Amino acid sequence: MKTDIIAIQKHVGVEPDGIIGPRTVRAIHDKLGLPRVPTWPTQAEVRRGTSIFGRAGCEADLVPLTPPYPLYYEGKAVRSIRVHRLIAKHVQEALAEVLAAYGQETIRRLGLDVYGGSYNYRSTSSGAALSMHAWGIALDFSPSANALHYKAPRASLSHPDCNKWWEIWERHGAVSLGRECDYDWMHLQFARLQ
Ligand SMILES: [Zn+2]
Repeated sequence: MKTDIIAIQKHVGVEPDGIIGPRTVRAIHDKLGLPRVPTWPTQAEVRRGTSIFGRAGCEADLVPLTPPYPLYYEGKAVRSIRVHRLIAKHVQEALAEVLAAYGQETIRRLGLDVYGGSYNYRSTSSGAALSMHAWGIALDFSPSANALHYKAPRASLSHPDCNKWWEIWERHGAVSLGRECDYDWMHLQFARLQ
């Protein structure tokens, strides 16, 4: 196994230490011509207001996008959602990939069309700091089945049939608080935890 890794590392031109780290993964990715997973700023960087996402509550940074499959907010169809302009392409692509991967019927069954909002100038639930929603870089889905303190397997988005959903978002660099912390399973954000 280790010699296989070393051979691959030599092939892709990284230091052959036999350990698969982020540099090896990135080099294999590039060699295969796969798109890179974007690296978004950390939450702390976003909160400082000096990241690529700028300042909180800046509505000029928001753009509307039309979801590729119908979303419902409190039971009403959503024509367009507003997110930060720098993540719009990724949100649009991720939702299109979700539609391709699951199809409309399964999306409905899993509640992946139940939208809980994106931009919202507010603090986190603890009130300690501004939420990533205040920059328009977080989205919530299926909130009633994934309330803040629901853990796996109670939270519906923690179920194995939602793995693909999360993998799609993670390929765009988004972070699931559920997958990372088993908390707030409704929430995904385009900012790293650290
Ligand atoms: Zn959220």
